[in-house]
Amino acid sequence: MQYIDYYEVLGVPKTASEKDIKQAYRKLARKHHPDLHQGDAKAQAEEKFKLINEAYEVLGDNDKRAKYDQLGMNWKAGDEVNFDPGAGGYAYSYQGPVDFDLSGFGFSDFFSQIFGQDFARSQKGSGHSSRQDYRGEDINAEISLTIAEMVHGADKELHLSAPNVCTACAGQRFTRQGFCRSCGGTGQTEDKKTVKVKVPPGLHPGSTLRLKGLGGKGYGNGPVGDLYLHIQAAPDATWHIKGSDLEAELTLYPDQAILGDKMQVPTPYGPVQLKIQPHMHAGQKLRLKAKGLPRADGTTGDLYFKIKIDIPQQLSQQEREIYQQLRQLRQAEHPHPDSTTK
Ligand SMILES: [Zn+2]
Repeated sequence: MQYIDYYEVLGVPKTASEKDIKQAYRKLARKHHPDLHQGDAKAQAEEKFKLINEAYEVLGDNDKRAKYDQLGMNWKAGDEVNFDPGAGGYAYSYQGPVDFDLSGFGFSDFFSQIFGQDFARSQKGSGHSSRQDYRGEDINAEISLTIAEMVHGADKELHLSAPNVCTACAGQRFTRQGFCRSCGGTGQTEDKKTVKVKVPPGLHPGSTLRLKGLGGKGYGNGPVGDLYLHIQAAPDATWHIKGSDLEAELTLYPDQAILGDKMQVPTPYGPVQLKIQPHMHAGQKLRLKAKGLPRADGTTGDLYFKIKIDIPQQLSQQEREIYQQLRQLRQAEHPHPDSTTK
């Protein structure tokens, strides 16, 4: 009998967490589900699928995993293993027959030898007939919000994929016929669902919104899971988002940059009056305190206007003449160092 490295089968390290194992298993079980393949590939997928399910049957169960780890510490995949309860001190040998046929489940000899009895017992105890209640799974989803939505809140309609307990196998992953075909042995089915969410104001990028009872359906009398929405900032055409600060360009004409001005500028909180001091340079930044994005600590980021200086699209004849006079004045007193105009 050959030793099977179940960690290798699922592609996870020996230190993998329960969650990692479950994730790796679900991904592989979906990929190798025999119903998704045809011809020779189907037979191959069938074998792979059985092995993946077997690996999860062991590593997905704390007791079986501990037993397996203890047993298999010194073996590598493919090693010849002989279990002799008398000599080796391993008291785990299969002492069948049990009252249903384990080979129908598609387990390897290796598995049957070590876990056959445990499995038969657990299937008898928690089989299809004795229905249990499960709490529905929590759903984690990412949601992109515009700046206005984060600041003011919004009504959103979300289309989610919700995991539900498989009704064919009651989440047990097995039926009497072997690995459950309905759910691909994962114990879960994915249902599409649409939820309407009232997003409250004052959210910030990176925050999480918990919505009770909007997760996966429970099974039996189990309650519904929760929905966790992870907030991200959607790209914005007006504002550059820099953490909780926002930045935009503000274009001034030369006269405004030199003499100063009062302007009405947009903010996510509505337009505000901005006083431009005289003598502004291109690239200078003006700060509006607490007009940025909400922060985790309840404060608010700042809003920056980066000054850009440009000339008006159209200049009148009179403006041109005045610029001419300005140039003469500059040349007389403070000429541009590189100018060669006389
Ligand atoms: Zn199922």
